[in-house]
Amino acid sequence: MKKSKWFLPAAFLALLTGCAGGKDKTVQQKPERTILFVIDGMTSGLHQKAAMPAFTALADSGVLFREVWLPLPAHPAKSDAYPWTCSIPNPVLMSGTVFIGQDSVNRNFIQHSFTERPTGFFVNSVSYVAIKDGFSIYEQLPKGEMKPHYTDEVSVEAAKKSILADNPEFIRIHCQGLGSAGSRNKEEGHPYTNNIWYPDSPYLRQAAYTDGVLGQFVQWLKDNDLWDGTVLIVMGDHGQADAGWHEPYMPGGRTTQMVVAGSGIKKGEIYDYAEIIDVAPTIAWLQNVPAPKFSCGRALKEVKEGEAVPARVPQRMKALDEALQKCHDAGIDVSGTPGLSVEQICKWHLEPQGTDFAAFVDAQVARADELVRNKK
Ligand SMILES: [Zn+2]
Repeated sequence: MKKSKWFLPAAFLALLTGCAGGKDKTVQQKPERTILFVIDGMTSGLHQKAAMPAFTALADSGVLFREVWLPLPAHPAKSDAYPWTCSIPNPVLMSGTVFIGQDSVNRNFIQHSFTERPTGFFVNSVSYVAIKDGFSIYEQLPKGEMKPHYTDEVSVEAAKKSILADNPEFIRIHCQGLGSAGSRNKEEGHPYTNNIWYPDSPYLRQAAYTDGVLGQFVQWLKDNDLWDGTVLIVMGDHGQADAGWHEPYMPGGRTTQMVVAGSGIKKGEIYDYAEIIDVAPTIAWLQNVPAPKFSCGRALKEVKEGEAVPARVPQRMKALDEALQKCHDAGIDVSGTPGLSVEQICKWHLEPQGTDFAAFVDAQVARADELVRNKK
């Protein structure tokens, strides 16, 4: 592995702060760059149902997490209570916490952890402007237009230019095409209406298209001698319901999958479970920078060569989602019950458990059990 000339200052900084990635103090050789490649609305297992040879090859050459659990992927309208322009999992991904209503969360995203070289965010949609704070380079493409959402290569081409010109340490590329295509499956009057798995549905077609864009990008990194210094993370910002889009209470939307591949990463491993709040601490740990201030996930150290796989991983996000789903299925008015409404996610930290994620999930699971029991 190529040793980065930025290794020493970052390692020194991490020692000083004592807070490299998930409050961990180990200092290690870091990659030149980490690229978070988001395929909007990629549900778990998609590459086994769609033509996605590039994603499959990347999984074979890296680490695949079969399921990455997210908070229920609601998309409340922007308001004083919900100051985000995108669905709940997006600010959760960048901050590493579900408690996104805390003051200054938007000044403590993963991009804020990088201070040595630029960071870049390249996205072919206008919907992610709320999570751009802290990126030194932000390109929202197309400017103000909606229709080229499907041309995911615009995000990638902008990133490629910036990698050559600015050499960012951390990059988020967001390809909106697949999520937009999933929504098209809701349009009436087609054989694929309400079924993303219908042969040649817009969702499946876009999966193949975006996979081609991903494959060309990986090849471009290799052709330009950049691959050896790169960690590439490919995941969805949320999943996709079988009927299309990501209704919070429809299975499919609350899980995505993730591949981590590249510099120093194990090859050909498959792990079952991760949570979206783990991604920011993992990037921080890999890059020897502090984890975002509010992050409460764990660094997925098992992705790295030589690191052991933890014997047991708590599945809190899954437990939380299933508790909320149980109430919903029992017909309990979750939106009228503080702490159980995804619409009130911003206020979750005002629960008695505050921002203690483990205690919060335990309390929500107990509350769901009680509500469902009382209903019977
Ligand atoms: Zn999305």
